Parts: sequence; structure tokens; C-alpha cells
Amino acid sequence: MRQRARLIVLGRQGAGKGTQCGLLAEQLGVPHLSTGDLLRAEKEAGTDLGRRTATFVEAGELVPDDLILELVTTYLGGPDGRANGYVLDGFPRTLAQGQAMFDTLGAASLDVAIELHVPTSVVLPRLAARRVCRRCGTTSVAASGDPEARACELCGGVVARREDDTDEAIARRLALYDEQTNPLLIWLDSRRILTSVDGVGSPPVVHHRLLAAVRAELPAAGLVDVPETSDLAGAAG
Ligand code: AMP
Repeated sequence: MRQRARLIVLGRQGAGKGTQCGLLAEQLGVPHLSTGDLLRAEKEAGTDLGRRTATFVEAGELVPDDLILELVTTYLGGPDGRANGYVLDGFPRTLAQGQAMFDTLGAASLDVAIELHVPTSVVLPRLAARRVCRRCGTTSVAASGDPEARACELCGGVVARREDDTDEAIARRLALYDEQTNPLLIWLDSRRILTSVDGVGSPPVVHHRLLAAVRAELPAAGLVDVPETSDLAGAAG
């Protein structure tokens, strides 16, 4: 059986990682695993791990590496996790996490790392305008003058800023990306598995660029059939 792709996608908060990872995972037929979503789900479910990590998430701080590794190995630790492939969104985020991923899961746990590059000046206003339905998770963009909270048109839940999208927490997370994630990018680049994709543009245009990057990297490793970008309806839009 053909192996499934194992990708990580890195990028500043607000770069559109969640949307793009969802599209990419669907296209490649592999699960989309977001550590941020998993942490929010653990908190929602009231698990021990959810309780131990919630204060870090709410303050915009990184969750300590040992707790994140506990979370990730729970989902990827078994042979099935790796064989089924994945698009990992939000992990690894530090050099220590990247090295631990290789130590724990092996170098074969990663085929390609993609940095979705969007400058701080672009993500800052995006994050301030981001609204998320607390019930169904649908993300939307608030226009200036919109109320801070409203009812979700899809499910009636409360649509508001994410708890960690306060101005202070946003500034903290962006500073942490420069401090903690840059050394990881340099390390991945030195292993020749990092490719950078311009993340500024409409979602279909960025998706088209991402698929082109994956096509360029994965077939060389004899891994997957990546659909032709021209198969994507509206991708060039
Ligand atoms: P995200 O949804 O990717 O913006 O993640 C939300 C929050 O979850 C981050 O601000 C961190 O508090 C935490 N988090 C997610 N992934 C990681 C990670 N790999 N390492 C440490 N903390 C993380």
C-alpha cells in the first residue's frame, strides 16, 4: 500500500494555517491534526491534560514541551497514526519539540515541512478581526463597528473572539513565534525538509501555491499521488 503523506505546516498565528491545513488534508486524504484544536477539545472535555494546559493557552503562552509531547504522542504514537499520514498544524513549534518529534517518532515521521509565510503587519489586523463560534467552531471576520459578540447563523452559538485573541495575548504569541519558532525553521532548513510558501493572498490562491509546493516535494520521495493543481475548481481564483 502506498504510504500517506506526513506534513507539518508552520506559520504565524493568523497566517491562515487552520484553513489551509484543512484543505490540504482533504486533498491528500489524511487527517488534519491541530494541537491548538486538540488543546481546546481537551479543555472542553474537562480532562486532566485540558486543565493542566488551559492557563497557558488563555495567556497566549506556549504550553510546556512535555505536556505538548504527551498530547501529540497520544494521537501519533501508534504505528497507525504514522501510517495513516497527517497534516500537523501547530506542532512542532519550538526546536526542542522538533527534535523530540524525531527522537520519539523517528525521522520518518516527517516528509515535508512547509512555512506559510505571512508578515506580522498582515496577521495582526486579521487576528484582531477573527471571530469564532464557540459551539460549532466556524471562523469569520468581523467588520469595523461590528459588536464583539453575536449569534452564529449556522448553529445559534455565541460568535466572539477566541479567549486567547486579546490584544495582549496576540502580541505575546507573535513575539513567541519570532523567538521560539525561528530556530526550528533554521533547523528544518538545515535538514533540507523546509519549503516556504507565500501565504499572502485569497484562500484559493494560497491553497494552489501550497499544493504546488507539496507536488514538488512529495513525488520525489515516491510517496503520494498529489492531485494536479488544475483539478482544483476555482483554485486560481
Ligand atoms: P493555535 O490554535 O495553533 O493558535 O494554538 C493555540 C494555543 O495552543 C497556542 O497559543 C499555545 O498556547 C497552545 N499550543 C498549540 N500548539 C502548541 C505547541 N506545539 N507548543 C506549545 N503550545 C501550543
